[in-house]
Amino acid sequence: MATGPPHPAIAKNTSFFWRNMHFKVEDEVFCVPLKEFVAASDSFEELVLKSELGGGDGSAEDCPVKIPGQSKVDFTALLKVLYPTASTLLSKNNAEIKLDLTKEEWIGVLKLSGLWGMTKIRDFALKNLSNVTLALSAIERIQLARSCCISNWLEDGIKALVQAERLDMDELKVLGWETVALLFCIRDTIARFSPSPTPTRFTLGSIKCVLCTGQACLIPLDPGEPTECPHCDRTLGRSSILCSADSTQGPNRKAGKVLLNSIRCPGTDHNPFSGETFTCRECKWDTREALQEFVRIEVSAPEFNILFDKYFGEEVERYEAL
Ligand SMILES: [Zn+2]
Ligand SMILES: [Zn+2]
Repeated sequence: MATGPPHPAIAKNTSFFWRNMHFKVEDEVFCVPLKEFVAASDSFEELVLKSELGGGDGSAEDCPVKIPGQSKVDFTALLKVLYPTASTLLSKNNAEIKLDLTKEEWIGVLKLSGLWGMTKIRDFALKNLSNVTLALSAIERIQLARSCCISNWLEDGIKALVQAERLDMDELKVLGWETVALLFCIRDTIARFSPSPTPTRFTLGSIKCVLCTGQACLIPLDPGEPTECPHCDRTLGRSSILCSADSTQGPNRKAGKVLLNSIRCPGTDHNPFSGETFTCRECKWDTREALQEFVRIEVSAPEFNILFDKYFGEEVERYEAL
């Protein structure tokens, strides 16, 4: 047998040499490269490939990796983002490159990317869903906030319903009676506002000089340089919620006033201003001067964020802890 020259070594292309995986979602098998799943998520292998979901190793059509409990429509939407193709990317007149997914598809992408720790893809889906053209309704925002743990969407959605001119009970039903009750509680509180004689919870912006009737906030806030609580590193702004500690020795509160050193970050026993002194911009009263360090709390109307925090604060904390 003739021996020719040895075959030249064949190199694998470093950018385009992808291993295909077979996934089974509902009653369909998908064959796609594994590359982007693992590039997008540190935990995909752990969560899907190595977990006990049943099925095969994904190497062939008849031994696919099974993904139970998810919809093939959502999975297809995620694939459109992981593997956009020319036909999905190019718009009709070829003038721009654009991923053209429907609202439902972006919701599917959001669900699965959150489930599988694909942070960048999840942020991308959130950004696309925030686009006004997709017009998420307040109720959809709340539902998504809950299924995907997005705390600011819960607040946006509740706020929109609190401010809505009228509400449709049939539409609200999907939120559950408890949420609807809390929602009406907030609407009712705002509608029947009368200032609390002894303030317990208030915003930082409502802390004012006790000597004059000036409307400026006594705590100077530089928008360019955020003020932080020295104890819990919380960023303090005009709308930050504070409270007055329950008085143990003598009253910390009297009509419309609280003792400056009784002010607390909610849920803690520290004063975010401990050691600081403040000067009224209008009458130059300095909190170091006599008259005890009472400050005036003037709340213009119950601010939505205080009420939201009161009724939905725990739920938000749960999402933010994730
Ligand atoms: Zn003053
Ligand atoms: Zn604090």
